[in-house]
Amino acid sequence: MVKKVRILGIDWSIKHTPTEDMSDNFGECHPGSHTIRINEILPESQQRAVLFHEIIEAVLNELEIEMAHKDVTALSAVLYAVIQDNALATTLTKEN
Ligand SMILES: [Zn+2]
Repeated sequence: MVKKVRILGIDWSIKHTPTEDMSDNFGECHPGSHTIRINEILPESQQRAVLFHEIIEAVLNELEIEMAHKDVTALSAVLYAVIQDNALATTLTKEN
């Protein structure tokens, strides 16, 4: 998986972290250090979904948008499914 992601012009580090250091969280978004931590115990497919969720959290934080965590979870899950179901990651990044 990727080690870095650029969010609104800022490079964030992605750290795959042992589950014992994650206090039962699947993922964590640390805006102060621009770090996203992903629980490495998860299967790769779930790590990608968690990464997407944390990216949404980072965006909301940067834009100072308040959103209930259950809504963040729903929004990120739905957007992730739409991107996957339509192979949009490739489509959206094509040059032409
Ligand atoms: Zn969250």
